[in-house]
Amino acid sequence: MSSNENIVDFIKKQLVATEYYFNEDMKKHTTFKTGGTADLMVVPHNIPELRLLMRHIIKEKIPYVVMGHGSNILVGDKGIREVVIKIDKNLNNIAVKGDIADVEAGALLADVSKEVQKNGLSGLEFACGIPGTVGGAVVMNAGAYGREMKDVAEEVVVLTKAGELLTLKGSDLEFGYRTSSIQTKGDLVLKAKLRLQKGDKDEIQKTMDELVMKREQSQPLEYPSAGSTFKRPQGYFTGKLIQEANLSGYQLGGAQVSKKHAGFVINVGNATTGDILNLIGHIQKEVKRLFGVELETEVRVIGEL
Ligand SMILES: Cc1cc2nc3c(=O)[nH]c(=O)nc-3n(C[C@H](O)[C@H](O)[C@H](O)COP(=O)(O)OP(=O)(O)OC[C@H]3O[C@@H](n4cnc5c(N)ncnc54)[C@H](O)[C@@H]3O)c2cc1C
Repeated sequence: MSSNENIVDFIKKQLVATEYYFNEDMKKHTTFKTGGTADLMVVPHNIPELRLLMRHIIKEKIPYVVMGHGSNILVGDKGIREVVIKIDKNLNNIAVKGDIADVEAGALLADVSKEVQKNGLSGLEFACGIPGTVGGAVVMNAGAYGREMKDVAEEVVVLTKAGELLTLKGSDLEFGYRTSSIQTKGDLVLKAKLRLQKGDKDEIQKTMDELVMKREQSQPLEYPSAGSTFKRPQGYFTGKLIQEANLSGYQLGGAQVSKKHAGFVINVGNATTGDILNLIGHIQKEVKRLFGVELETEVRVIGEL
């Protein structure tokens, strides 16, 4: 029995609600809208089923990759051979108690920010326009406008690669610029407790509206992308470097350096992941040649190229 047949057999026998899809087109699951097909995608329906699934996968040593909303991944054009575990809309419970939002990993940051605003809690305004899940955001230490997940993550529940269930303190997660120890260890995020502060509902909403407007004005949100393609090198602004390298609007295949924000590579129509990676390589080469600065990608590449 192949490893995929093995998983499907297990799901059919033991997991009532978990969904699975063969040859799933990853263009439907990534905000870049590129990539080949995943041989098998599994979408767990609740945390108990996800834990049973992971216990089985670990016991059988089946290779897997985890994804959330797909807003920071680039999938290879030849697709993904490992089983893809997609943690999003089914695991999106949000419970607010006092100053704490207890959220499942698949909840979208936009929904969590709205929910905490309704409860008069401030601290997550920065995240309202980041189009990812809480799981992906904790792993990436997502941030904007001077704040990051590190500022709110009080506690995170993870499943380790060995199948251990751990509750980790935010202060132990080694958060850095777009990184965390969860990312380096490859743990799977199940839940997070976010610590917020009491605030004025109208003020919180006003800040969220202003930040969303700022994004709409400065970012090419009308095109598929994964947000900022590169990490910000210390002492520089990525968009400015790329613009000064005369690459604004530069296009390879269907991938283009956004004219609105040169820090974004966008899909202007039927780009392949190959087009995007070629363009990324060209930008890196030019910026290094002209300014001696190494640009490191923020977006994470998975699957076969
Ligand atoms: C228009 C646009 C604007 C953006 N703006 C910002 C911004 O301002 N700031 C910012 O930081 N990012 C930004 N991003 C990038 C992206 O939204 C964030 O990095 C987001 O946190 C990724 O979440 P996700 O659920 O989409 O994760 P995915 O893209 O699905 O995955 C990202 C990484 O996290 C891992 N992962 C996902 N879920 C889990 C889980 N439950 N357990 C373990 N690992 C997991 C994946 O394996 C992968 O390595 C933007 C993207 C877009 C498209």
